[in-house]
Amino acid sequence: MSSLFPALTDGDGPAAGRPALRFGERSLTYGELAAAARPVAGAVREARRVAVWATPTLETAVAVTAALLAGVTVVPLNPKSGAKELGHILSDSAPDLVLTAPGQELPEALGGLARLDVDPADRAPGVLPGDFAGGRADDEDPALVVYTSGTTGPPKGAVIPRRAIAATLDALADAWRWTGDDVLVHGLPLFHVHGLVLGVLGPLRRGGSVRHLGRFTTEGVTRELSGGATMLFGVPTMYHRVAQALPTEPELTEALAGARLLVSGSAALPVHDHERIAAATGRRVIERYGMTETLMNTSVRADGEARPGTVGVPLPGVELRLVEEDGSPVAAYDGETVGEIQVRGPNLFTEYLNRPDATAGAFTADGWFRTGDMAVRDADGYVRIVGRKATDLIKSGGYKIGAGEIENALLEHPGVREAAVTGEPDADLGERIVAWVVPADPGAPPALDELADHVAARLAPHKRPRVLHHLAALPRNDMGKIMKRALRHD
Ligand code: ATP
Ligand code: MG
Repeated sequence: MSSLFPALTDGDGPAAGRPALRFGERSLTYGELAAAARPVAGAVREARRVAVWATPTLETAVAVTAALLAGVTVVPLNPKSGAKELGHILSDSAPDLVLTAPGQELPEALGGLARLDVDPADRAPGVLPGDFAGGRADDEDPALVVYTSGTTGPPKGAVIPRRAIAATLDALADAWRWTGDDVLVHGLPLFHVHGLVLGVLGPLRRGGSVRHLGRFTTEGVTRELSGGATMLFGVPTMYHRVAQALPTEPELTEALAGARLLVSGSAALPVHDHERIAAATGRRVIERYGMTETLMNTSVRADGEARPGTVGVPLPGVELRLVEEDGSPVAAYDGETVGEIQVRGPNLFTEYLNRPDATAGAFTADGWFRTGDMAVRDADGYVRIVGRKATDLIKSGGYKIGAGEIENALLEHPGVREAAVTGEPDADLGERIVAWVVPADPGAPPALDELADHVAARLAPHKRPRVLHHLAALPRNDMGKIMKRALRHD
């Protein structure tokens, strides 16, 4: 196939001196990355599948790049996974070896697996089979097996072909005017699609560069954006921290104001945070919507209107439709009629590893992927996600109510720091709306009546929460996603 990383496979050519990766104090140009990848690619090329101990480090970026150059499938492992999850992922994906940094301690669950230490300082000149030499991997060959976030159930291994990575990154390049001159900064983990595919493979495919913060801090964002970085990727919890910090960090405000593109994804960006950032910096955060299984589906375009609460329009090449429960298309794209999002396009995964039933159930007969996400669509194509079918759609008093808009309304109340909304069975209504709130001031938590009136005044009377729980924090996973399963079972 054509190379996933043209700037890299031309590593000894004109691009060789350009910066590619920077993690903390350590960085590699394209030429250095190619030379660091060669010995690793040579060592893994006979393997079918390799695991990568995906710490947010230069070693991880080199390991993944090298394996992909050699045409070998990568399974990124979350270093924070517990023994049970790790055991499941290893037996499910059966890697031939694990790639990690020299000196890195690995948990017992990995004990039986051959280990390859990746040292970015170990460089080899010359040419390599695989991608370097024009490629032995086919477009449909699996590039990655990425486990879903486990928000709604046990993580499933999505098999992502090389074709999907190329398609999604090129569609984003079009939507975001993303070029080799862009310098991306982020502090995302590298075991999910957001941080790894968009955040590392994205810049490498464009011939641009990425600076990884190791750990997300607003100081790091300020430093990099005022020091030449042009783009910021983050999850909503990061933009929430940015919004909180703006009033006291004038340099952060200035740095964001000068950025070319601020992008949020992986979960809904609360409208309140979007507006606080826009008010302080004059910049609108661009939201995009994707999944492990589909990579990216929609985005606000760089030259488009950022409508708070929406995830923009389908990316080039992506077909998107909203369907009723019986599978028929919704009657209208009128900004009000809720349906499940289904997508089709070159960005889709091939299958869930070892789960033929789950794979079959995820697709319609004519190849549309059922996302499980519910949305409305405006007449001009903008998609507004109202929540997940499984946890965020509340059927109350004959209405279908999305948790997201109630959460957004609650977050506009000054007494609310964080909010999640669920439904629970109710004899009269079918389901009643339950609000889970982290108070801004734990000493003075807002009362149910006050919050219910606040929501009713903004939305509609039937959207009033009927039950209120105060919490010290919401249960969130590594990507900052609210684990509603945990709320329900508490
Ligand atoms: P699991 O499938 O294991 O339950 P998960 O769905 O959270 O976990 P991911 O593939 O990481 O695993 O996340 C995809 C989901 O994240 C989407 O289906 C959608 O619900 C949510 N999501 C992603 N981006 C956005 C966004 N911009 N706005 C709202 N939701 C989003
Ligand atoms: Mg999912």
